[in-house]
Amino acid sequence: MTKIESLLKDERIFYPPQEGKDLAYIKSRYQYDKIYDYSLKDPDGFWTERAKELITWFRYWDRTCYWDFNKAEIRFFEGGKLNASYNCLDRHLLNPHVKNKAAIIWQGEHDRDLRVYTYQMLHDEVCRFANILKSLGVKKGDRVVIYMPTMPEVIAAMLACARIGAIHVVVYGGLSAEALKSRILDAGAKILITADGTYSGGRRINLLNNAETAIAQCECIEKYIVINRFGEEITLSDKRGLLFDELIKNKEFEKYCPCEEMDAEDILFILYTSGSTGKPKGIYHTTGGYLVYAAHTTQWVFDLRPEDIIWRPGAVGWITFHTYVVYSPLALGATVFIYDGLPDYPNPGRWWELVDRFKVTILYLTPTNIRAFMKEREDWPAKYDLSTLRILGTVGEPINPEVWIWYHKNVGKGRIPVVDTWWQTETGGHLISPLPYTIPQKPGSVTLPLPGIEPVIFRDDGTSADINESGHLCIKGAWPGIARGLWGDSEKFKEIYFSRFPGYYFTGDQARVDEDGYFWIMGRLDDVISVSGYLIRTSELESVFVAHSAVAEAAVVGMPHEIKGEVIYAYIVLKDGFQPSEELKKNLIQHITKEIGPLVIPEVIQFVNDLPKTRSGKIMRRILRKVAAGVYDDLGDKSTLANPDVVEKIIQGRKEIF
Ligand code: ATP
Ligand code: MG
Repeated sequence: MTKIESLLKDERIFYPPQEGKDLAYIKSRYQYDKIYDYSLKDPDGFWTERAKELITWFRYWDRTCYWDFNKAEIRFFEGGKLNASYNCLDRHLLNPHVKNKAAIIWQGEHDRDLRVYTYQMLHDEVCRFANILKSLGVKKGDRVVIYMPTMPEVIAAMLACARIGAIHVVVYGGLSAEALKSRILDAGAKILITADGTYSGGRRINLLNNAETAIAQCECIEKYIVINRFGEEITLSDKRGLLFDELIKNKEFEKYCPCEEMDAEDILFILYTSGSTGKPKGIYHTTGGYLVYAAHTTQWVFDLRPEDIIWRPGAVGWITFHTYVVYSPLALGATVFIYDGLPDYPNPGRWWELVDRFKVTILYLTPTNIRAFMKEREDWPAKYDLSTLRILGTVGEPINPEVWIWYHKNVGKGRIPVVDTWWQTETGGHLISPLPYTIPQKPGSVTLPLPGIEPVIFRDDGTSADINESGHLCIKGAWPGIARGLWGDSEKFKEIYFSRFPGYYFTGDQARVDEDGYFWIMGRLDDVISVSGYLIRTSELESVFVAHSAVAEAAVVGMPHEIKGEVIYAYIVLKDGFQPSEELKKNLIQHITKEIGPLVIPEVIQFVNDLPKTRSGKIMRRILRKVAAGVYDDLGDKSTLANPDVVEKIIQGRKEIF
């Protein structure tokens, strides 16, 4: 690969706060360095200690770590026995300080929809759900698809599956019937758990129609259970359907349901990836390693303490929900806040109002979430008391430095750390992220690898990249939370992740390491364009666009050009109050040339109202790339798009330009 210049050099640095440091799990750089060295020198010792400290085992394991990346075989805590539901619930009932505290606080879109579950209550609910599943013949290893809006029953259903050893497959309620169908079939699920619907921006969203349309073509589904969200009578169109409200009339189900003893390497769940780069992949994780890794990263990266209230708004069918909303906060006995509603309904201050009202301490957003606030809701955070917040997180895409700064200043009031966490569905939990009270933060950098993780950056030919030279981000060695496979396709698992650089886990992301050893994620492999002989990172150009006062969001792709080979095509979303104009286009081009240099001139600027995004808040650049090239059909898998309508509008806009 020709060397790709890094155009941006951000020198800003933010030091961890003193306040709160004394209580932090990892308090100093010295401590981090010591642990990091130890974790690489003696992974067995390190993971044994963490696994014993964080998780309750019915039986300890015979072998701590084993992996052979050439065979795509990974096993942690082999022979160990545990149950995830036991770790998230039962063990807390033995502790009088945790037993009666809130495990979940749920707020629906209407203020009147508010429910709190203590650990005891959630335990009882999970037992009931597990008994119901058992009565329907669900056994260890069976797949149960959960297709629901954000509500406590999703968590209860997940933990009920874990309790009896069934494998859950959570599919976000916003996905279409078609997308649901393909996931049910791929997983070969026996049971579907769904709800009648939910509210979004004051509108009723019907889920049951989708669910029933999907299962009409899924013979593998034996029964589906419908939870009543609207509080109205539900008519079922398929004889396999069961109403949850009817099922729970049976008092038998209220009995205690024992936990299945799971082997550490028994599958806990399957989850489909976001689909940013292609068709979603059915990743599966196993019980022991995943749970240890989830708890481990949450304790150190979010510094999660029992008194914390953690909130990660957004889709349930995403890995972030699994790891940082369900499994780890509950395993560690903290409180989770979940909200089923839009950020700007009934007013643009809604999310801040909720932080204020429920005294959220840890808030975990995506760059897309934050950019949306910057676009039209900039002054809203100031109207609320956000002083309970102590850690902010970001995930999902490279964060533009300007966006990081805005978040730090307006939400964190300049006083609290921002942890930019890099990870993937496949990694189970964070791999590279600052520790909040320990590692100074540079906006736009995910900083340093976590203990136990050894990232390397390779050139195309497998040699190591120099400082500040970007290349393929790979990981040497395994960690407990790494995925164990792709459901039903072990060859593909090996091919995608372990064949590009033999002996290493291939992430598919591009990154560079600066002179301080800090990692900068530069985007995906194909987020590079070649302009006038330079290879340019589109993510960097986007960050420069976003730093312009009129720009809320930007997506930059390459457009094939007869003479020049490839040119820059920029899709720009303006902040509220700015109108598209030729003047503004010129102004933006000037801004780019001023910041980056005279050779990098965007060829096309298209103003759009919105960008196509996945449910997990990622810009779907693969679609934008096709549209820029004038390809309007054959846009690839669109099943995870949150806003499919915008694609048509963008195509219209492109046609108007050419
Ligand atoms: P698919 O694999 O189906 O294309 P996806 O990779 O978007 O979808 P996820 O597993 O949800 O699905 O996302 C992981 C990816 O998100 C990472 O590979 C990386 O590209 C991006 N990402 C996550 N966190 C960060 C971060 N903090 N900074 C930069 N990029 C991030
Ligand atoms: Mg991916």
